[in-house]
Amino acid sequence: MLRRENGDKFYKYSKKFLLAGLSASGRWNDNFLRPIYFKKGFGPYIYDIDDNKLIDMCLSHGASILGHNNEKINQAVKKASAIGIMCSYETEYQTELAKKLCEMIPSADSCRFSCSGTEAVMHSIRLARGYSGKNLILKFEGHFHGLSDYIQYSWSPDPEEMGPYNNPVSVPFSGGIPEDIKKYIKVIPFNNIEILEKTIYEQKSHLAAVILEPINYNQGCIVPDHKFLKSLRSLTKKNDILLIFDEVLSAFRTGPDCAQGYFKITPDICIIGKSVGGGTPISVIAGRRDIMEHFKPMGTCSHSGTYNGHLIPVMSALATLNEIVQPDFYNQIYRLADKLYKGFNDIFSTTKLKIKVQGLGARFGFYFNPKKDVIREYRDRTGENKALASKFYQLMYQKGVYFHGLHSGFSIKHSIEDIDKVLNYTEDTVSELEKIF
Ligand code: PLP
Repeated sequence: MLRRENGDKFYKYSKKFLLAGLSASGRWNDNFLRPIYFKKGFGPYIYDIDDNKLIDMCLSHGASILGHNNEKINQAVKKASAIGIMCSYETEYQTELAKKLCEMIPSADSCRFSCSGTEAVMHSIRLARGYSGKNLILKFEGHFHGLSDYIQYSWSPDPEEMGPYNNPVSVPFSGGIPEDIKKYIKVIPFNNIEILEKTIYEQKSHLAAVILEPINYNQGCIVPDHKFLKSLRSLTKKNDILLIFDEVLSAFRTGPDCAQGYFKITPDICIIGKSVGGGTPISVIAGRRDIMEHFKPMGTCSHSGTYNGHLIPVMSALATLNEIVQPDFYNQIYRLADKLYKGFNDIFSTTKLKIKVQGLGARFGFYFNPKKDVIREYRDRTGENKALASKFYQLMYQKGVYFHGLHSGFSIKHSIEDIDKVLNYTEDTVSELEKIF
């Protein structure tokens, strides 16, 4: 039986001081109706405040690709501390990291660092506008690009407000955004070449950039059709529109050259986040030199910050990249991925409950009551059976597996035995769910 008394008690105490008992709204857990409080992490495991030991399938929302308490990251943090925990100063290490990234990532001629994905996306959009002299940004329904006001639209709009499929409404996912900003955003469905062509043809004189998650992990795992990506690249090039890959979540899931290398489509600008820092806060803007030179001091676009390129995350990122390029790293990722995703779908194929997994590389998502056999865009997964999803996650937690919700994944420290355990628990959970739903 799951222990949760300490967590319940701590939530009551915490929320007196820390709003809603959490530092980021995304840490709210719908299945517990409170945040979960953790004590420590080690390898693929985390331990909650009630001493439940869990196989972590959230991995710091995607940041901990090397697992928790990784010895190489710990050494990197120590090395940065010994130098003096300096920030706001350049050392040789930021350049070393930028050089490594330029060697690994196809679109990276040069790099700049920020602390979070939100910041890096915000700066990239400004850069695209500064470079092109145009203001409109095209994004795809269901894609998430962080919390800056210029882009937080139509990540997960309610079906009642999302408008027609071929001309979706731009739905902000926050209060407090000036209504006027909407005019700088155009939203269209993912994976539809016809609508893409029409929109680019109609809006090309206003469009500064098209931004997308090259793998839409923020909706579980929605993979682009290769023909769609190829058209997107050629249409943007032909019409002088910048192509921005937001690889905050997709970076290093499929290989050291990220999703752009996997699909062999090179954007003009990309944003790298989460896993690059091995659990420490760093994001990267990388792109074509002539575009990047529009940042100050060479150009007019601002990009700065006291903590940009902080030595602790810079050293940690160097350590992370060093692990990622080890010869067997992605063989192991794909061994785990193949076993896990096939295992899940084999289990789900034996039940009348409509559950499905889509995964690619080290991340995946569950769909509870999807509309289609293959989910190709946001609307294919709307109408989710939320009660079924919630009960699934609760029962898995009780057995010792932590999923936070929509997007999930594993680290290089997960073993085949961990994956076997997750699959065995899934089989048991599905049997229990069949008695309820
Ligand atoms: N872009 C994508 C694709 C993301 O998945 C996220 C976070 O989940 C962000 C941007 C924002 O990144 P951060 O949470 O580091 O601000």
